[in-house]
Amino acid sequence: MEEPVQVIEGQLWVSGQKIVYVGPDEEIETVYEKSGLQTILWDREIDCEGNLLMPGFKDAHAHSAMVLFRSIADDEPLQGWLEKRIFPVEAKMTGEDVYELTKMSVLEYLTSGITAVFDMYLTPETIINAYTECGMRNVQVSGLNMFGPTPEVMEERFLKLNGVNSLSSYMLGIHAEYTCPKELLMQVAEIVKRHKAPFFTHLAETKREVEECKERYGMTPTQLLNDLGLFDYGGGGYHCVYMDDKDIEIFKEKKLTAVTNPASNLKLASGIAPVSRFLKEGIPVAIGTDGAGSNNCLDMFREMFLVTGLAKYRDMDAASTDAIEVLKMATVNGAKAMGLTDSDVLAPGKYADLIMIDMHQPNMQPINNIAKNIVYSGSKQNVKMTMIDGKILYEDGKFFIGEDPEKLYAKANEIADRLRQE
Ligand SMILES: [Zn+2]
Repeated sequence: MEEPVQVIEGQLWVSGQKIVYVGPDEEIETVYEKSGLQTILWDREIDCEGNLLMPGFKDAHAHSAMVLFRSIADDEPLQGWLEKRIFPVEAKMTGEDVYELTKMSVLEYLTSGITAVFDMYLTPETIINAYTECGMRNVQVSGLNMFGPTPEVMEERFLKLNGVNSLSSYMLGIHAEYTCPKELLMQVAEIVKRHKAPFFTHLAETKREVEECKERYGMTPTQLLNDLGLFDYGGGGYHCVYMDDKDIEIFKEKKLTAVTNPASNLKLASGIAPVSRFLKEGIPVAIGTDGAGSNNCLDMFREMFLVTGLAKYRDMDAASTDAIEVLKMATVNGAKAMGLTDSDVLAPGKYADLIMIDMHQPNMQPINNIAKNIVYSGSKQNVKMTMIDGKILYEDGKFFIGEDPEKLYAKANEIADRLRQE
């Protein structure tokens, strides 16, 4: 069943970091009266000219600094791709490299209307600096595995990075079952229990991953991690392509989110996630771009189209997974999974994390159904403005993140050249 999307004509006011009013013009007199102010002075008044304001997209799974790997590790199977192309170069990347590359990724997120990122990468301390300096909302998640960091370091980061500023937070997690021996998983489970915190991981991404886990433990990765107590306080999995009935039951019971990454799964030929099954079972689905090494772009419009297109194809049913569900995944569901329920929708008291969609472009006309226009014919060319935490960071093709984009591109190329030579 399709739920209506509420589209109203009116005004939206932002004060500081937050939305203070959203509603029709007629109510404004009452709002003025209630405010008790004689006059309200605006820093800026924007005539939206019939364009659409909506909540920003939440990229619920990314490895932002992997923009470094764009177009250098393509057209290869996943395992070889990881082992030959990615891991050796990652071993040489410094915290400074990750910082610069994360900043470059922010430019791309903003052009696609993405206002928050769920990022798993190597050096959380420099990543948080990059995001904070740009003004980008970010939730980092630990990518702990047998090569590092230690569970102690993960816990330290959890305690230290949460609450550092209102734009950033940090969640517990691991890279994947197949990169963590059981003892390590048990240590992580202790930390999850100690903090009663949600837990996220790459999960059931490939058939091989699930089969090898079954050989090792006689059960799927979802069942193993659940048995160890890792999902006792919620969380979820990235990818979730190969899920059996028991896995689905666990997701329902523990209220876990399945974060789907359709472009990455398609390009690495991993498979198509059972998105419509998740929806039928009441399992929340969010959407992630994954890293640029496997995608290769950080674009929520492409992901949204793929989520529904692939679900329709998988089910051989054009009625599967409608546009409204997809919009929810890309906004409120992502926000919920990331613990960002203060920036999920446009309402008074919520953080002003919003975007303006340009309706004055041919692919948005006629406006028979705005939601369907966005999911089926929309693209990042329609993102006219991106605001995070009450600040406009991108508008009419220009960035306002305190960095010259050309300098960030030059830095990224320098890093790529250096790592190629080392
Ligand atoms: Zn990933």
